[in-house]
This record gives sequence, C-alpha cells and structure tokens, in this order.
Amino acid sequence: MIIVYTGDGKGKTTAALGLVLRAVGHGKSIRMIQFIKGSWHYGEMSSSSRLSPEFEMIAVGKGFVGIMDDTSTPQQHTDTARQALSLALKNISDSTFDIIILDEINYAIHLGLVSEDDLLSVLDSRHPDVDVVLTGNYATDKVIQVADLVTEMRSIKHPFQKGIRAKEGIDF
Ligand code: ATP
Ligand code: MG
Repeated sequence: MIIVYTGDGKGKTTAALGLVLRAVGHGKSIRMIQFIKGSWHYGEMSSSSRLSPEFEMIAVGKGFVGIMDDTSTPQQHTDTARQALSLALKNISDSTFDIIILDEINYAIHLGLVSEDDLLSVLDSRHPDVDVVLTGNYATDKVIQVADLVTEMRSIKHPFQKGIRAKEGIDF
C-alpha cells in the first residue's frame, strides 16, 4: 500500500509513528527517512531506539544534532532531500524493510527540494511487499492518485493560534 498523511492539521508524523508502534508488534521492519532537515524532534529520536532493531529513523546528511535551530542553507536542504530520495529508491525497490516512511516528503516537493516526477518514479519502482507512508502537507494530486489510502488532517484548532508554543512530549 501507499499511504498518505497530508493536510494543515497536526498529526501527520505522529500518525506514521503510531503505525510504527503497531507494525513493530507484528515483527515488521520499518525505516523512517527524514526529508526536511531539522524536522525531527528529540522525543521520537530518543524513544525510537527502544523499538530497535525493528524500527530505525534515518536523518540523511547529518547527525542528530542542532535539530531545534535550523541553520541549514537552502543548498543543504536540497542536498538532504535528494540524498533522502536516493535512499528511498533503494529501500522501496528491494524488500529489506516491510514499511518505509518518507517523512515530510510532500512538503519537500512543495518547496521544490525534490521533484514530483522523481517521487512518482520511486513509487513506481516499489517492491510489491513494501508498504510506503508519505507525510507532509500539500500532497500533490498525482501522489494522491497513486496512493491507496489518503487521510487529510484538517486543523480545527491549534494552540499556536493562542500563542502557545510547542509543548514537550506533545509537539516534540
Ligand atoms: P506532528 O509531528 O505533531 O504529528 P505534523 O507532522 O502533522 O505534526 P508538521 O507539518 O510536520 O505537522 O509540523 C510539525 C510541528 O508543527 C508540530 O510541532 C506541530 O504541533 C506543529 N503544527 C502542526 N499543525 C499545526 C497548525 N495547524 N498550526 C500550528 N502548528 C502546527
Ligand atoms: Mg510532520
């Protein structure tokens, strides 16, 4: 299956992580690849090791440092997203992992860091035993078309609107 979590509401990455929790319970192997440099937070990075070796998170092109303050240049963002896509191609076209999560891929396309055509050809090369999860707002029509399951998170309220900053354990 190709699963898409998109929309402007909170819950896209956490929905993917919820799926990880479920899949690990069935002994599935899952790899999550980060497309936007700095988009991962401390909470899931430290707890993910507890689901090891079934689950692993890969931050391409950098170590797990400096994630709260993004000081990357546009070129570094592009390089990260492209490297992430070539890793995605490798992992989606063979069956080393049962599930591959491309976190913030939709947003990376929206920002022009990777092309929609490149993503579509990666999805086209998908090994039939591999499930793929794509997160990020602004999923394109073509991505929605090739997906089997698409959920749009729609924001009704977010504490940010009241000026409440990101909360530990809830947002990061
Ligand atoms: P989460 O990781 O919490 O599931 P997400 O993946 O749906 O969120 P992203 O676009 O990746 O959302 O943004 C992540 C951060 O932005 C989180 O701290 C989240 O609380 C915040 N966020 C998500 N939606 C909104 C919104 N509608 N207004 C303000 N902040 C938001
Ligand atoms: Mg997210």
